[in-house]
Amino acid sequence: MIGMKKKAIVFDFDGPLVGSGQDKAIHILFSAFVACHDTGFRKFLHPDHPELDISKMLKGLVNYPGAPRFQQLSAIVSSIVRDIPEAVADPHELCIDESLVNEYQKLQQRYNEFYSGLNEAAAKRFWKPLKGVKTLIKKLSKDYDLYVASGIIQDILEKDFQHHKFDRKLFCGIMGSNQEGNIDKSMILKQIKNRSYQDVLFIGDSRKDLEYARKAGVKFFRVKSAQDYKVLVEKMKQQDLPDVQDMCEFTEQQLQRIRSKTLALMNQYLSGKILSYQEITTFINSKNN
Ligand SMILES: [Mg+2]
Repeated sequence: MIGMKKKAIVFDFDGPLVGSGQDKAIHILFSAFVACHDTGFRKFLHPDHPELDISKMLKGLVNYPGAPRFQQLSAIVSSIVRDIPEAVADPHELCIDESLVNEYQKLQQRYNEFYSGLNEAAAKRFWKPLKGVKTLIKKLSKDYDLYVASGIIQDILEKDFQHHKFDRKLFCGIMGSNQEGNIDKSMILKQIKNRSYQDVLFIGDSRKDLEYARKAGVKFFRVKSAQDYKVLVEKMKQQDLPDVQDMCEFTEQQLQRIRSKTLALMNQYLSGKILSYQEITTFINSKNN
């Protein structure tokens, strides 16, 4: 069945297949804060005015939604350290002391551990496949080769895929990032495109996903909810694979929520009360605050 169809549809995993709301954004910000706090990067934080830090970090986040985790982290750290919300490939670019450059790896490790812990706890309890998506996948698999392209590390991606009981047989490839986090979705999309399909559509949920699609020269459609799939199906009736430019930033309301939840967690951490990953994700998914 592999490679038999003329056209391919590629799904991003987080968002279009499994809904996680704004949880990941909050996990990224809070984990970056914890990683700075627990390393030499603490000196750039403002424990008396955490609002300052969250405002800076948000700028780094909105520039890199859906990017590999260490790229996202570097943009947030760059925002904290020098108020420039751009990713760096090498910590020297942050213009920090040599001793801190050496500590950057420790910061990455702390971030990795904390962020993975939060994602694991939230995925178990709160993240679910979008309503109707499995039925749609089955239908689409009759006319299109289907793939998953994700920034998630390959092992974790495959575990998540299995955990949510998607049907492996309906997909020609489940493709994620590597341990170093230097394979991005544009490379995966290019690889799929090079299997010489007539047409490839990437279904993603972030502005970064649109950039990846453009870079790889494939079409893009944004899906953040089950409702978006209904729009896609309607469009496909008229024009086969659509190509919709949608910058899909967070809404103002979503940003407010991300900010207030993260700030509350930061204040809690600063007060010295350490919550478990489960307690944190339960707080994030609670209606209050
Ligand atoms: Mg996504």
